Amino acid sequence: MKRTELGELGEFGLIDRLKENVKIYQPSTVFGIGDDAAVIDSGTHYTLVSTDMLVEGVHFDLSYVPLKHLGYKAIAVNMSDIAAMNGIPKQVTVSISLSNRFSVEAIEEIYEGINAACENYKVDLVGGDTTSTRAGLALSITAIGEVSKEAISYRKGAKANDVLCVTGDLGAAYLGLQVLEREKQVFLDNPEMKPELNDHEYLVGRQLKPEGRTDIVHDLKEKGIVPTSMIDISDGLASEILHISKASGVGMTVFVDNIPIENKTLTTANEFNVNPITVVMNGGEDYELLMTISQEDYEKVKAIPEITPIGFVTEDKNNILVTNSGEKVSITAQGWNHLQDKE
Ligand code: ADP
Ligand code: MG
Repeated sequence: MKRTELGELGEFGLIDRLKENVKIYQPSTVFGIGDDAAVIDSGTHYTLVSTDMLVEGVHFDLSYVPLKHLGYKAIAVNMSDIAAMNGIPKQVTVSISLSNRFSVEAIEEIYEGINAACENYKVDLVGGDTTSTRAGLALSITAIGEVSKEAISYRKGAKANDVLCVTGDLGAAYLGLQVLEREKQVFLDNPEMKPELNDHEYLVGRQLKPEGRTDIVHDLKEKGIVPTSMIDISDGLASEILHISKASGVGMTVFVDNIPIENKTLTTANEFNVNPITVVMNGGEDYELLMTISQEDYEKVKAIPEITPIGFVTEDKNNILVTNSGEKVSITAQGWNHLQDKE
């Protein structure tokens, strides 16, 4: 029998391949695999379901991630996927696998973060599962949300001439991770050294305590805007642009000049000797929203300060980044390809 290496397919290739043999039996399943959340017809509205797993050593390193933050982030990243469908999260379940390396108090600390996030997003923790494992900690959260049938935003609805927009600012979380990794190394080399994180408070905060942009869902509703497509930016802007492009059968032109990047992100990119645009395109974990808005809604969008137009949708399927000097670069992405990581 042929053995295919995981690295050959990558994460998205693997999901596509598994999806091929998945059959749908229920008429209430409106949309299954392939968006930020599954969409289920609940009669008066759609129910949204999304799952995300965080694994020690892959998604987090407990030598610098406080347990409370880990719990908070595990919930927040799932809120982000519900927001990406233009929905409001309502309930979560929490599954946890752990070894006896962890004390009861340590698990309670994770739950302190989980409870704080539930309070912030006003979602109810309604169940989960607890299992043991030989080593390492993993947290899997399922979020359930709601969206009215008229307001749902898929990845697949972008149309030529729509305006491409992002929320917040990009690139900070990735550099926050680089700062944490650097300070960990400094500490390992010399345990007497205190980590110098103050100077990078914003970036580290964006890495350790991200928020799902459910606030934007409210803003859009208030202004009467339904994005023609939407996705959350978990794997870097390039990867998400390609997802919308592929799902919608369109292309995107993005202007580097328009991409919102904090000053702190620019100076830290410089400090690490990396191009901030590379960080934005291929970094990750910003948990902002990328959306397309019809031309008619563009005036209304301008009234939401947290949303920035960065480009437009084209009929041809080329995805292009226009640099400050007017040079055109083709957008390619790897995303966070954990499957290509070394064991
Ligand atoms: P996101 O980054 O928004 O969390 P993913 O890239 O993880 O989304 O997943 C893309 C789609 O593939 C989603 O619809 C998700 O539910 C689905 N998916 C991911 N892994 C699996 C799996 N092992 N089995 C079935 N569906 C999966
Ligand atoms: Mg997502």
